[in-house]
Amino acid sequence: MAETTNLVGKIVTGLPEALVSFLRQAGEVAASQGQHVYLVGGAVRDLLLGETHLDIDLVVEGDAVALARELKPDADAWLTIHSRFGTAKLKAGEWSIDFATARSETYARPGALPKVQPGTIQDDLFRRDFTINAMAVSLDPSRFGELIDPHGGMDDLARKHIRTLHEKSFIDDATRIWRAIRYEQRLDFRIESVTLRLLQRDIPMLVTISSDRVRHELEFVLKEKYPEKGLKRAGELGVLQAVHPSLKGDGWLAARFARARQIGLTGDSLARIYLALLAYPLAVAEAEQLIAYLRLPGTLARILRDLADLREKRKELEHPELANSEVFFLLYSHVLPALLAFKLATGSKMVRQYIDLYLDKLRYIRPALNGDDLRAMGIAPGPRLKDLLHRLHVARLDGVVTSRQDEVEMVRRLVPLQT
Ligand code: ATP
Repeated sequence: MAETTNLVGKIVTGLPEALVSFLRQAGEVAASQGQHVYLVGGAVRDLLLGETHLDIDLVVEGDAVALARELKPDADAWLTIHSRFGTAKLKAGEWSIDFATARSETYARPGALPKVQPGTIQDDLFRRDFTINAMAVSLDPSRFGELIDPHGGMDDLARKHIRTLHEKSFIDDATRIWRAIRYEQRLDFRIESVTLRLLQRDIPMLVTISSDRVRHELEFVLKEKYPEKGLKRAGELGVLQAVHPSLKGDGWLAARFARARQIGLTGDSLARIYLALLAYPLAVAEAEQLIAYLRLPGTLARILRDLADLREKRKELEHPELANSEVFFLLYSHVLPALLAFKLATGSKMVRQYIDLYLDKLRYIRPALNGDDLRAMGIAPGPRLKDLLHRLHVARLDGVVTSRQDEVEMVRRLVPLQT
């Protein structure tokens, strides 16, 4: 009989004490209900790699929702139930625990959502993406910590290999192509040679995944610590080009990403800037294609559009003697993340200085007089009043007027008849 590996030591040292007690309790309660529960996926992989993983996935041979209900630890914990999918999510402090019922999956056609049936832990592991993610740890009290590794995940961890479980894996679900790249680059592993051949063979299957799923995969890459690594690899493999043929994961991009981190951007703001920088080489029409293909939400679409527009205007901005008002009117209609991305993207020191001037100073400058003041001076509402306000704004920006009195005199000079 094959030797069994027990990870109890790694569980105790690798996870917070309260979480370990919770896992023990989960095993005990499941056993009392005549069920079996397992720790699966990324948490097992990361335990074996000696890393802490606080997003825990549990698989139950039986009824996951019933077990989750029984285990809700206290009033502060948050339990969300999706009865239709037989899943539940428990959030308690810094950890979150997903409960799912063990299932088997079959794919009617590439890229389609799989047909799901209740199954065993073996079935559940077989539906997974890579061997290193297809391991489970039993939480049964009688064999707590015992590793279940039917596909050689431990060996692949030791060899630092990303390997699919079967040769149709990328055909069933081409998002696994992106996932392979992401794990490879995050963990500093290699996509194993047979898997790499399958991946290259199945690049055309990327068209079978929906826009929303492609966008999600790209978002996951952009949330990695060094997304430029995954994008470079995706570029080399022709995966990035399936999103848009003009995208490049090159050294130019890597340098800009590093700079975005250096200036202290984090979280969602950083991810937005990464996406904008990735799209920077695209011309206006190409940016529109990308927006449509990824079905980007309004705020992101606006950033990409504004950035494409700024890129078109870069020649005008490279002029050494622009007046403040010219700088203002070239930049003012663009959202802040687009300006920030443009500043990171441009190779021109002068353009960067103009953007700083706009961001630090010009965007706050407004004339002292407003429409009401002009009406009080006898100017009727309409295009003329609008034009006067514009001229006042220009004069303020360029320092031609510096006080309210200057502005009043300027209006009187321009509209002598009404005075
Ligand atoms: P991380 O969160 O660190 O990226 P993870 O392994 O927890 O890693 P999730 O995306 O949360 O990643 O997925 C949990 C588990 O579900 C994976 O470990 C894998 O076993 C399985 N899985 C996720 N997506 C797929 C997929 N497209 N095909 C097959 N299995 C998948």
